[in-house]
Order: sequence, then C-alpha cells, then structure tokens
Amino acid sequence: MNYIEQTCKSVERRDGCEPEFIQAVKEVLDSIRPVMERNKHYVEANILDRIVEPERVFMFRVPWQDDNGKIYVNRGFRVQFNSAIGPYKGGLRFHPSVNLGIIKFLGFEQIFKNALTTLAMGGAKGGADFDPKGKSDNEVMRFCQSFMTELQRHIGADTDVPAGDIGVGAREIGFMYGQYRRLRNEVTGVLTGKGLGWGGSLVRTQATGYGLTYIVEEMLRDAGSSIEGQTVVMSGSGNVAIYAVEKVHQLGGKVVTMSDSNGWIHDPDGIKLDLIKDIKETRRSRIKEYASEVKGAAYTEAGGDTVWTVPCDIAMPNATQNELNGDDARILIKNGVKAVGEGANMPSTPEAVQIFQNAKILFAPAKAANAGGVATSGLEMSQNSMRTRWSFEETDTKLRAIMQGIYKQCKQSAEEYGCSGNLIAGANIAGFIKVADAMVAQGLV
Ligand code: NDP
Repeated sequence: MNYIEQTCKSVERRDGCEPEFIQAVKEVLDSIRPVMERNKHYVEANILDRIVEPERVFMFRVPWQDDNGKIYVNRGFRVQFNSAIGPYKGGLRFHPSVNLGIIKFLGFEQIFKNALTTLAMGGAKGGADFDPKGKSDNEVMRFCQSFMTELQRHIGADTDVPAGDIGVGAREIGFMYGQYRRLRNEVTGVLTGKGLGWGGSLVRTQATGYGLTYIVEEMLRDAGSSIEGQTVVMSGSGNVAIYAVEKVHQLGGKVVTMSDSNGWIHDPDGIKLDLIKDIKETRRSRIKEYASEVKGAAYTEAGGDTVWTVPCDIAMPNATQNELNGDDARILIKNGVKAVGEGANMPSTPEAVQIFQNAKILFAPAKAANAGGVATSGLEMSQNSMRTRWSFEETDTKLRAIMQGIYKQCKQSAEEYGCSGNLIAGANIAGFIKVADAMVAQGLV
C-alpha cells in the first residue's frame, strides 16, 4: 500500500462516521499523487498524516430560550484546521445538518482554498446544528449571543477570524459581533462580513457570487467563449446564488432557475433578481412565491425533477454539498452544458465530477471558484488592520484580479504536473504545495 492509500485508510479507520470529510480528503490526496512522487521530502516529513488532522477542535453546548421561555440546546463547533500560512479563517454554518464531519470537511477544504487566494489565511470552519429558519429575530439574537459566549474564548483578530456561511448572514454576524465586543471590550476585526457602518468591507456581500462568475468568465475566455448570451442554470437562492445571478446578468448571460430546500423555479425569460432579493432578503420567505408573482415562471417541489434537467450552457450549483449527482451530470451533458462552476462547497458528487471530466466539460471546482468570499474577507481584515476603507470599485478590482490569479495558478499547476486542463487537480496541487512547504519550513508543527 502506498503512502496516499495508507493515509486514506487511516482517515477511514479513525473518522469512519464522517463521510463528507473522507470524501474531501480522498479528492485532495488523489490529485496530489504526482506531487508526492516528485517531492519525496513531503513523504519523509509525513506531511499527509499531519495535514489531515486538525490542529484543534472545539465542540460546545449552546443553550438558548425561545420567545415563550422554552429552553433548547444546540451543539456548536469550531475546527481550527491549519494555521501554517496565517490566522485561521473560515465561515460559520447554522443548519440542522451540521455535525463534526461536515465542519471538518469544510475546514479541510478551506485550508487549500485560502492558500489559493495568495492571502495569509489558515483554514478553519465552525457552526451549529441550529436552524435560523422560522425563528424570530430575538430568538436568533439569543442563540447567536449564547454561541459567541463560548466561541469568543477561542478566536481573535490575529488567531481566528470567522465569517458567514449557510444560515449565517449579516443579521447573525451583527448579533455575534455585538456579543464579542461586549464580552471582550475590544473593537477589532474578529469577524468578517460585518455591516458597512462598523468595519465591514464593500463587495464582501457580493464577493462569492461575483468571484464565481469572474472565474467562470476567465475559464470560458481561455476556451474562446464568454458568458454573454449564455443560459445559466443555478441552484440555491442564498448569498452565493443571488450575487452570482447579479454578475451573470451584468455580463450579458441569462439565469433561468434558482432553488431553496423546498423546491425550484424556472423562469425562461430570466430570473427577476429584485423580486428574489425581496423574497429572500426582506420577506425571508420561500422561493415558491416567485412563481405565483411572475407570469410564465414555474415552480417544482423538491423530491422530483431538479434544476439540472433544464437545458443550459453553464451550470452553477450554489446550494450545498453533494447536490449534483451522476444522473444530474449525465442529463446536463445530454442537454449540451459546456461549463460548470461550483459556488457551493463540494456540490458535485465524485461520480458527477468524473462524468464531467470524462466528457471534457470545463469545470471550475469549488476550492477555486468560490474563493472570492474568503478572499474579500481577507481584504476586510486588511482594511480593519489599516483602519481604512476601499471604494467598491477598488475592492471589486482586487477581487477580480485575485480570481484571475487563482485561475492562472490552477491552470499552471495542472500543466506542471501532467494533468493539463484539470482545474480540480490544479487547485489541489497549488493549494497543497503552499501549505505543505510552510509546514515543512516551520518544523514539526
Ligand atoms: P445561504 O444560507 O445564504 O443560502 C443557502 C441556499 O442553499 C439557500 O437557498 C438554501 O435553501 C439552500 N440550501 C441549503 N442547504 C440545503 C439543502 N440541504 N438542500 C437544499 N437546499 C439547501 O448560504 P450561502 O449562499 O452563503 O452558501 C451556499 C453554499 O456556498 C454553501 O455550500 C457554502 O458553504 C458555500 N460558500 C459560501 C460562501 C459565502 O461567502 N457565503 C463562501 C464560499 C462558499 P433554504 O433557504 O431553504 O435552506
């Protein structure tokens, strides 16, 4: 058994009840085979066994009270995976599906994604199995305050800087930041995604969706095409999806589907984004309402056909992990899809990824494609440290340049290691080498 297989087996043995984490580890290790063959010093340093083990894991009780005084307990997590290249950085997810394995998979991915941005950020992730949906603002506030009462012991502007993710948007970041400030008597950039009036960065809200669209545009341009005039099928209707729609429309493409966990909409004339923002950001309601307010739009309940059955040129899975499977990939290819850009983390199953690769579909993997969010969080940290604020245009220009840089790194690394055109391998290789080199240089860490 070779070194990579041995490491995978050991992860399976020790973390057998964490399938998403095992999936993420296997994907990364599989694509760095040529790196390990060419760089024996990584083997001697046993870098793989070290990199798959988090530096630190926190798991804690989060008690809170609803508006009727009833007491609940949720489970909170923070996995500080790797700080070899900078302070831990990665979002917080509030969703009933959250468990240690999900947070470990996200934290592991975050290490390499953050390395790709070229900013000094280590990898971490956190969250809770709490569902903000259907809760009042006061209930969400009480939960966030309780969550931060424990988390504040483990984070700080120079150690670990969390951000948002599924279920954690501007409202939740505000409540958590307020509690941190109150407990620590410190006004620092300890969270990113803050409000613009209290340390937030312009473009952070838009960053992941815009960044995704920029990298897909770059990939298409390299192939002699562009987003202009293309039909895009998308899942999700949260932060990533909303701003991906905005940028695709600005670049002349047309998004025709969006979804939430209850179902999806199809509007052949193109999604009316103002209405989506109103439904999702103001009313905090279900996407179904779109179809009853827009003539010609259709709604399909979750559980039957998916958005991926709608013919398109470009597919962007922007909801959650493993949401696009082998059957979906086959239908997309049959219907003529030319490019896939992953906005969500690990949204395509391994089978779907293989099918896209066999069919030579242009494929921008999550680690590279959704790095715009954390990159702009990095820019928010820089602005906080400098006590300055950049304009929208300046920040957006930096974001675009970072995404173009990520594309270039992935492409070059793939070429250098004999897998030209494979951006999955390229992203894993480029991110891995940067972190592994830092770990080797720092001794036995
Ligand atoms: P939001 O909470 O804003 O939106 C998530 C969207 O996905 C909602 O439409 C939600 O529907 C849907 N969704 C979530 N879970 C499921 C599920 N199990 N089944 C079906 N639909 C689901 O999250 P974000 O937009 O921030 O995040 C989306 C993805 O992008 C995640 O994978 C996240 O990790 C990734 N990401 C986000 C970044 C960011 O900056 N926000 C940065 C990098 C990656 P519903 O409202 O019904 O739950």
